Amino acid sequence: MAVAEFDLIRRYFAVHAPQHPFNQLGIGDDCALLNIPSGHQLAVTADTMVENVHFFADADPELLGHKLLAVNLSDLAAMGAEPFAVTLALTLPKVDETWLQAFSRGFINLARQHNVDLVGGDTTSGPLTLTVQAMGVVPQGKALLRSGAQVGDLIYVTGPLGNAGLGLKLHQGVKCADPRLILRSFNQPRPRVAEGLALRGLANACIDISDGLAADLGHILESSGVGACLQWDSLPLSQQVQEYIEHSGNWRMPLTAGDDYELCFTVPANFTQALPAGCHYVGEIQTKAGLRIVRAGRVETFEAKGFEHFS
Ligand code: ADP
Ligand code: MG
Repeated sequence: MAVAEFDLIRRYFAVHAPQHPFNQLGIGDDCALLNIPSGHQLAVTADTMVENVHFFADADPELLGHKLLAVNLSDLAAMGAEPFAVTLALTLPKVDETWLQAFSRGFINLARQHNVDLVGGDTTSGPLTLTVQAMGVVPQGKALLRSGAQVGDLIYVTGPLGNAGLGLKLHQGVKCADPRLILRSFNQPRPRVAEGLALRGLANACIDISDGLAADLGHILESSGVGACLQWDSLPLSQQVQEYIEHSGNWRMPLTAGDDYELCFTVPANFTQALPAGCHYVGEIQTKAGLRIVRAGRVETFEAKGFEHFS
């Protein structure tokens, strides 16, 4: 890396020494050094966002910085892991200081909110590509897996479905009466970290909803060897999403559109009293394979397919 580029990293990303007690050494050497407390497991995930695939070329860089970190923290939340460190690989077509400043502001602000340190990364030139690797800890054996759902479990989500999907449609020209909350859901998802931690010891299975409830719950069903039935009348839908469905007739949108970043989890019925605030019942795990939904007195089956990059 050229000296000028390292100055940029120092200016925008190495804004303070690591704050979290696990992080002994952050940006500046060949590697970061992290100390994991005994009796814990390291949970590691990486997510990439590519211009014109995951975001528009004119996307607000501050929102992009937020979202890039949020989607990674969401994966840790889905495992019940507590985030403490991230690395950032930036591929930039050019050094645009205005862009970098706004991007790092969005990124660092969200990192601070979750007591997460940026401990290293890489900076290269090329088509705009943003990758984060996020690390969290979870007590040995307590991680929330996709494979633990049991027949009879109730299925819950941590918040409304389809707001981000509608947000994408607003960017594509669809109109809506009160777009602020909707655009916020799409641009600035809130990773459900606290909820994920609260679900340890309660949920049998958990996933974050990045590709739509149908596809992501589908992963739980497949990993756990079970099926499920959703109840349309129980789905948490915003006023705006309800109005969109009334006008378009596209009732599957909140189940198939991506980017909500709520958690979907399954829980034994006798634990539902202990769930964190804001969780909504949406259905039940059943023996019969596949995903069904009861809507207007009819049982509809669901093709559990979300967005796939190579299809
Ligand atoms: P090396 O060549 O040894 O891999 P680099 O010169 O690429 O190291 O990076 C120098 C330091 O800056 C390293 O600590 C690295 O982790 C950090 N770094 C580089 N790019 C970024 C970035 N985009 N965000 C955070 N840290 C970065
Ligand atoms: Mg080196």
